[in-house]
Amino acid sequence: MFFGDTRRHKRDHRGKDVVHQMSVSLEEVYRGTVRKLALQKNVICDKCEGRGGKKGAVEQCQTCRGTGMQVQIQQLGLGMIQQIQTICSDCRGQGERINPKDRCKQCQGKKVVRERKILEVHVDKGMVDGQKILFTGEGDQEPNLEPGDIIIVLDEKEHPVYKRSGGDLIIRQEIQLVEALCGYQKIIKTLDDRDLVITAIPGEVTKHGDVKCILNEGMPQYKNPFEKGRLIIQFVVIFPNQIAPESIPVLENCLPPRPEIMIPDQAEECTLLPFDLEQESRRRDHKNVYDEDGDMGGPGGQRVQCATN
Ligand SMILES: [Zn+2]
Ligand SMILES: [Zn+2]
Repeated sequence: MFFGDTRRHKRDHRGKDVVHQMSVSLEEVYRGTVRKLALQKNVICDKCEGRGGKKGAVEQCQTCRGTGMQVQIQQLGLGMIQQIQTICSDCRGQGERINPKDRCKQCQGKKVVRERKILEVHVDKGMVDGQKILFTGEGDQEPNLEPGDIIIVLDEKEHPVYKRSGGDLIIRQEIQLVEALCGYQKIIKTLDDRDLVITAIPGEVTKHGDVKCILNEGMPQYKNPFEKGRLIIQFVVIFPNQIAPESIPVLENCLPPRPEIMIPDQAEECTLLPFDLEQESRRRDHKNVYDEDGDMGGPGGQRVQCATN
């Protein structure tokens, strides 16, 4: 399989493509940018022009007659033979030999040298995570082989504020309860540093989890950057932890009336305790790993203590 592969490569006369990941921020794909990327690549040695040695110093390998392959024939008995093909050990598959004293000093006979190359990568507005930017023929050079391509694959980093959903941008906007009930004005910083002002409609109440959007403030479209998606705003209402008792009647005056209930004679009075659902499920996972017997003396003992407080 392997030998077949190298031969096919030679026939194609084309080297391998080189793939590089490039990390980009959401700002960069929003605004577009040019990034310089330094990389190492093989180029044909200019001293020996890719021959590996002096002109005429390169001769065909006698062992393999220039094929780079050796064929061994094994007798299996009963008149059967097996042919095994291996890479020629004398020329390491090159098919040619250079007298060590005629070998090129610059490339040590390898015909290629490593060179630092700076690529200018144009990141266009609206490009997406995983998008490929192609540099045709910029791959490693090798004698008698058309170089492959360098392929830059964009890796979009997560943004602390904005989430991208195709052409849309999603943002979480925290508002205080007073703003949810009495209106708000908020400033949203865009990815290109503009300030957008949003204002609640007077009298409208914003509920926790409400979603609104601004047209044409999402991601620019690739190759059509004046067209933008939507900016989607998810509201998170921050409730106060406590209300001063004297404020309660004032609040009640402004809010829709509370429903009246009839308490039956036999009803039982209960005490409410705090309950942390997340902590509870964490403790259950912990218990499954360390305390399979269900022994209450272990991490589960905390629950008993909590109930008696
Ligand atoms: Zn050979
Ligand atoms: Zn050389």
